[in-house]
Amino acid sequence: MGKYKLERVEVEISAIREDALPRILVRLKLYGDLEKGNAKCYICDKKLTLGTIGAIAKINGKYVLICSNLSCIVEANILANRSRT
Ligand SMILES: [Zn+2]
Repeated sequence: MGKYKLERVEVEISAIREDALPRILVRLKLYGDLEKGNAKCYICDKKLTLGTIGAIAKINGKYVLICSNLSCIVEANILANRSRT
């Protein structure tokens, strides 16, 4: 998996270390979907697995998963910023 420069991405979206991911997903109640194969990128609807999650975004108060596609991460960041106001 590629490494992306995420320094400038807002706090709602954090680059996640893969080993910490399951724990975070359990806490955000997103792990069940992933386990059932129902997890999808919020932006492009691509099916996600543990290895293809690029970010977690908080949009309209709800945590959503974003794939590792940089354009999806950028788009999610815009949505997250917009939903904050
Ligand atoms: Zn995507």
